[in-house]
Amino acid sequence: MLKVCKFGGTSMANSEALAQVKKIIFSEPERRYVIVSAPGKRNKQDTKITDALYACYDQVIATGNCKEEFKFIRERFNEIKTELGLKLDINAILDRTEQEIVENKSADFTASRGEYLSAICMAEYLGYEFVDSADIIRFDSHGKLNQDYTDDKVQLRLSKVERAVIPGFYGKDFQGNIKTFSRGGSDVTGSIIARAVKADLYENWTDVSGFLVCDPRIVPEAKTIQQITYKELRELSYMGASVLHPEAIFPVMKGKIRINIKNTFRPEDRGTMIVPNDKYIGSEEQIITGIAGKKDFTVILIEKSMMNSEVGFVRRVLSILEHYNLCIEHIPSGIDTLSIVIASEELKHGVLDDVINEIRESVGPDYVHVIENISLIATVGHGMSRRVGTSAKLFNALAEAGINIRMIDQGSSELNIIIGVANSDYEKCIQTIYKAFN
Ligand code: ASP
Repeated sequence: MLKVCKFGGTSMANSEALAQVKKIIFSEPERRYVIVSAPGKRNKQDTKITDALYACYDQVIATGNCKEEFKFIRERFNEIKTELGLKLDINAILDRTEQEIVENKSADFTASRGEYLSAICMAEYLGYEFVDSADIIRFDSHGKLNQDYTDDKVQLRLSKVERAVIPGFYGKDFQGNIKTFSRGGSDVTGSIIARAVKADLYENWTDVSGFLVCDPRIVPEAKTIQQITYKELRELSYMGASVLHPEAIFPVMKGKIRINIKNTFRPEDRGTMIVPNDKYIGSEEQIITGIAGKKDFTVILIEKSMMNSEVGFVRRVLSILEHYNLCIEHIPSGIDTLSIVIASEELKHGVLDDVINEIRESVGPDYVHVIENISLIATVGHGMSRRVGTSAKLFNALAEAGINIRMIDQGSSELNIIIGVANSDYEKCIQTIYKAFN
């Protein structure tokens, strides 16, 4: 059994959290490869190391040095060294780092130093080897992960190392410069390592006990999702559920490695297990897995009799949207109607009027109607395809609550039902669906 563990910023924030992390790692010998984030906030008012490093970069660009901003980084790592009783010469390492930040003038290089320093400290604290991600993770010339190269490098390097600490968040680009993933990217690093070493489990340790069925700010009693498939999670994270970086699923997906979201501060909680479809052992009672949503969409509703027999109708409409570089979220359609759902922020500065005029000219519709301030809410769950009457239950509950449904889109996989409601009904809608199924 081999486990790859990733610890997030809150788990790295202070000596108490770090002691807890050590305890967790040492409690199971299978936890051999540890990926760490940069130290996060120690309290609500605090600054994350990564944010402080971006501020250093801004100062270097503005003034040629980062003396002032780097003081905070120095203090934080000196505090960690002292509290953990480490022997390394942290000030020598910090001097060199500051100099490199000034010389490199790269935002990615600067931001990556949080994970780099964090991993060096953690390696000494655990007595594990430090393995730099810069030596094993590689991006291609399009900025995408070079998976094969990375797999080979990781396997080769780690085959000689029994236990290691590896910094998250970065690798090298094809020219050899440090490049980071997008924010929260240490999750992706963990997934890449888990896949390359063919881990049995990827444990992602954070400060919550997994995914909740829906946003607890809307439903305070929302339960934890015990098990979810990769695909269900994709649907939910696209809609805004954010415990794990959305790209962290892809590397482990091919190797069918499960991801366990765990809470560093409540290790006894089971957390959420993310599994491939064929390893899903759902309970009969569980019909829906999660509910997630986003506000502020605009629906352009186009109606034309006999639209279905007009060759090229949809293509002409879509090419107008492409011309304006607009990203389409959904396209529910009827026999004589076509609705286009777009995030409202894409339609600012008069773009909406221009698009409508072009649609009128190009396809001569009977009617074009715009509905603004729409929220999309996705109800996701494998169980839905097995159960007769799931959508009836959902729509009945919403009708009883007096919520007007403005749009319906059921994915062909029967994994989700997406509905559009007025922004003002958003919270009530999520509460109603949660109640109907729990
Ligand atoms: N430290 C980086 C961030 O704050 C990456 C991570 O923590 O995953 O985004």
